[in-house]
This record gives sequence, C-alpha cells and structure tokens, in this order.
Amino acid sequence: MLRLVAHDLRKEYPTPAEPLVVLDQVSLSLDQGESLAIVGPSGSGKSTLLAILGALDRPTSGQVTLGEVDPFSLSESDLAAFRREKVGFVFQDHHLLPQLSVMENVLLPLLADRRPCRRDQLRAEQLIDRVGLADRQTHRPAELSGGERQRVAIARALIRSPRLLLADEPTGNLDAATATQVGQTLIDLQQEEEESLLVVVTHSESLANRLQQKLRLDKA
Ligand code: ADP
Ligand code: MG
Repeated sequence: MLRLVAHDLRKEYPTPAEPLVVLDQVSLSLDQGESLAIVGPSGSGKSTLLAILGALDRPTSGQVTLGEVDPFSLSESDLAAFRREKVGFVFQDHHLLPQLSVMENVLLPLLADRRPCRRDQLRAEQLIDRVGLADRQTHRPAELSGGERQRVAIARALIRSPRLLLADEPTGNLDAATATQVGQTLIDLQQEEEESLLVVVTHSESLANRLQQKLRLDKA
C-alpha cells in the first residue's frame, strides 16, 4: 500500500544572524486514497512543507518517504524522475503557458520524455472532459475564466497519473462559489485516480473540512 510519511521535519533558512526556523518537528502520515489539508497563517511554512513533500526542496533534517522511496536519498537524475513521475503540482496561479491551447497545456508535462501519442491525447481529452472543459480544448488561457484556468491546471497535474497530488492554495484567487467547485473537482479527481494521495494548502475552512486529515502549522 502506498503511504506518504514525513517524520520529524525541520527546515531552517540561513540568515546573517540566527537561522530562520520555518518548520520544526513536523510529522504526518497519509495512506493511499487519503487527503490532507495543511492550514495556518501566512509565513507558517505551508509552501515550504509542500515543496519538501514534493521533493522540490530538502529538509534540514527529518525524513520523507513515498511508498518505499526516500526521494532525498536518490541521485540527482533519479530525483528529477521521481518529481516528474510521482508528483503533480497545482499552484495558486495557474502557471499555464499563454501561447498554448488547453489541450497543449495539459500535454506539456509529457514532453519531458516523449512526443504525446494517441493514448496520451485520449487521456488528456478524458481529463479535460472530467474538469468540465470538453468544449474548450482549443482555447487559450486568456479566453478562460480564473476557475476554468485552475481546472486546466488540475488536468495538467494529473496527466502523468502522479501518486501524489500537491496543491498550494489552489482556490486562493477565486471567488467563493468558484473556489468550492474547483476544490470539489480536485477532491473528486483524486478519488477517481487510483492509489493517489492529495495534499492541499488552503485558507478555506470549507475545503479543509472536506479533506480527511488536517495539519495546522504555526509560526515556529
Ligand atoms: P506560507 O506558505 O505558510 O505562507 P512559506 O513556506 O512560504 O510560508 O514561508 C515560511 C517562511 O520561510 C517565511 O518567513 C518566508 O519568508 C521564509 N522563506 C521561504 N522561502 C525562503 C527562502 N528560500 N529563503 C529564506 N527564507 C524563506
Ligand atoms: Mg505559501
């Protein structure tokens, strides 16, 4: 069974004086199919923790394992492959490329290792359909609303079928009604994707309450 475990994480950033301690004694454990909300005030280290869980940043001390793998024990090239293949990221800003269509944006993460084949196209079509944008495949981000752009970002994060889906304030720029819909899309898709885990940083109580676990960070 796939499990994400973080044990006793600490993260310090060097400063000219005392190191800045951003995370201290943070532990969590998430089983296959489960979801976790990370909540807490601005500056409490939520984005830092998410980056560590996604192996984008190293902890100062402590361990992370996804399944049997400790990403920080991998070589640089294996670590890059781990990030590409096992982790999907959704950010507060959609980070879509403006010159590409919805379809092209969703296929983009695959270009790191292949030219998308017919099967990839079908998977992308399914995901775009699933986020409610079947009739917008050829549109560019500028032609979409904020909520629609976030839906595309969710489809893009899932194109490689990551085991771990991470979202950093994915509804932070949306009005309340749109935020509810986009949050629900994220939850629904994680449940449809077999064997996946979802971690969401959010200031939305209602989104946090729809996830199974909640981790509250305070300023260290
Ligand atoms: P949150 O997402 O909860 O708002 P962050 O994880 O972005 O918090 O940041 C936590 C703290 O770490 C903040 O005080 C921030 O200024 C600091 N910080 C984040 N990244 C760096 C960095 N690369 N170097 C130094 N300090 C950083
Ligand atoms: Mg943040």
